[in-house]
Amino acid sequence: LTTTLSTLRVAVLAAAWCGLAACSDSSQGPSTPAPATPPPPLAPSFLSRFAPLTQVSVLLLNIDYPDDGAPPAAHDEIDRMIAGFQERIRTESFGLATASVDVVDVVMPQGIAYYTGGVFAFRVRRDALRTAGYGTAVPAGYHCVAMLGPKVWTPPLVGLQIAFGAYMSVIDDLLFLHEVLHTYDRTHASSFDPAAPDPNAGNVEYGDHPDPMGEVFTGAVVRAHKGLHGKARRELGWLPPERFLRIDASAAGSSATYTLGALEDGVGLLGIEIPTSTPDRSYWLQYRGDHPSLLGPVVTKVGVAIPADSLLLDPTPGLTATSWSDAFIAVGVPFTSPEGYVVETLHVDAGVSTTVRVTLPPSMPVTDRSPVIGFAVPTVPTDVFTGQAKVRVTAYDPDDTGLAAGTAPVDFAGIANVRYQVLSIEDGLPPLFDWTTADPHAEFTFDTTTLADGLYLLRVQAIPKSGLGNAASIELQIFVDNSQ
Ligand SMILES: [Zn+2]
Repeated sequence: LTTTLSTLRVAVLAAAWCGLAACSDSSQGPSTPAPATPPPPLAPSFLSRFAPLTQVSVLLLNIDYPDDGAPPAAHDEIDRMIAGFQERIRTESFGLATASVDVVDVVMPQGIAYYTGGVFAFRVRRDALRTAGYGTAVPAGYHCVAMLGPKVWTPPLVGLQIAFGAYMSVIDDLLFLHEVLHTYDRTHASSFDPAAPDPNAGNVEYGDHPDPMGEVFTGAVVRAHKGLHGKARRELGWLPPERFLRIDASAAGSSATYTLGALEDGVGLLGIEIPTSTPDRSYWLQYRGDHPSLLGPVVTKVGVAIPADSLLLDPTPGLTATSWSDAFIAVGVPFTSPEGYVVETLHVDAGVSTTVRVTLPPSMPVTDRSPVIGFAVPTVPTDVFTGQAKVRVTAYDPDDTGLAAGTAPVDFAGIANVRYQVLSIEDGLPPLFDWTTADPHAEFTFDTTTLADGLYLLRVQAIPKSGLGNAASIELQIFVDNSQ
């Protein structure tokens, strides 16, 4: 799946904090044969998610503007936020990941007006890093830079994310987690409520309230029980293969009973994935046992395109602020998907587990999976591009016939073309650069000196031999900076 430019402009312009980096989805459940040997190293890729995330390293710049009349954030409050953030990373990852955060105080070289409005967040990051004694890019050893300071951006939000930068105007561990997870490719956890007044055909952005990538600031009870949905944890490498099951078309016509453990406990089967009739969009069935209002399993519709999205499906539509809280499959009220899957809740052991029966129709969609795609950027360390910038993509199609026989993925298996585009954030189409190649080892070079310093969008697309309709893409916000 690819994102249309109009969607892209909405995501980047109206909601710049939604910007995505990159990721891939190569996970397969037990019902799909896994390669006998681990994949060989593909092209060096600093963005692809071939490895689990075990260490989160953040440089936190505590920003003070000389003329804004307010003191910088106090260190004891920052320390409390960091401790909360570290604990959240530990629990979200079931102890598989740790977080380290270094704090540097920065007095900015210009007054606050210079940084205010539009996409000037670029200036905040550039000047903050330089003032702190770094270059322009995210310093080596850190994955992202977090900037804590007065709100200078236009969107009416307390935080936002651009490329590998997290911007925060309040001291809050959950906001910190939310923005940093954006830099690890996590998009907003939304919900689908057919009763919602359309701006987005029933999609309610942030509507998956139990998720830290959903609404962050409403509801004290919800706030205490935030947890990423299982699919997100799987993509981050925090959900071992034995914790989830993928049901594919080979199970058509069958009915089976499963016991799902409470997601937050990390014990037992924690997720069941079933393909939808849309390529590379799945249902993800899970039990959020820690959420007192979710008294049964929930179904989240998840995408694996880049950017990926997720929608908590609410079988009992409503328009109140708390209508999400009954978005579970209650005992005696089966959920039937448009594909004809029937999920029944047979039993709930509150907070511990739930037993469900999944009944599949005689035929199920055979979905063509999208290519697994990653970036390699040989000439720059992160997302700041200067001079003649080079990029190459690593990709393979998991449905390639050679791979289906059980061989390990190799670069460009099943891939016909790769397309590279650089787009103006402000003006969108046509692309400033647009290049398609069938040479798997080709590098894309673009001359950044022809561009004004600022924020751009780099999009790469891997088109499989099976056709454009199932292409995979990555969209990465990049800074062009030739100012030094
Ligand atoms: Zn966000």
